[in-house]
Amino acid sequence: MATIFSRIVAGEIPSYKVAEDDRFYAFLDINPLAKGHTLVIPKQEVDYLYDLDDETLQGMILFAKQIAQKIKAFSGCKRVATVVLGLEVPHAHIHLIPMNSEKDVDFSREKLILTPEEFAEIASALRE
Ligand code: AMP
Repeated sequence: MATIFSRIVAGEIPSYKVAEDDRFYAFLDINPLAKGHTLVIPKQEVDYLYDLDDETLQGMILFAKQIAQKIKAFSGCKRVATVVLGLEVPHAHIHLIPMNSEKDVDFSREKLILTPEEFAEIASALRE
């Protein structure tokens, strides 16, 4: 069965798309730690990031870099944290999270609750 992230790529489940090319897709995390918290995934359905072939992994990091630059400009954060957890959804993904201190990347913290309009505005700003 397709993962929830593959179903997002296929358009079967809605997402707040940030970027897409032939191999990768980026969209806002629905339970964000901060405004701009984005997930980057390969379209290829692979569970564990380091099971990706070298060329795809390289491409994914470069794809994530472009988005991280946009997140930084959008949020004015000091850095964009790059986090790989991946136990909840069995489809490789990189979290990109605006951060000003290490506390901003504590996944046990309460997540932001944003309205659909806020999500749409953030995704639109990151797509520009
Ligand atoms: P993890 O596998 O631990 O990296 O967590 C998976 C992440 O995917 C969590 O931060 C979820 O909030 C996020 N997530 C799960 N389903 C969706 C969805 N349909 N749209 C956006 N983000 C999602």
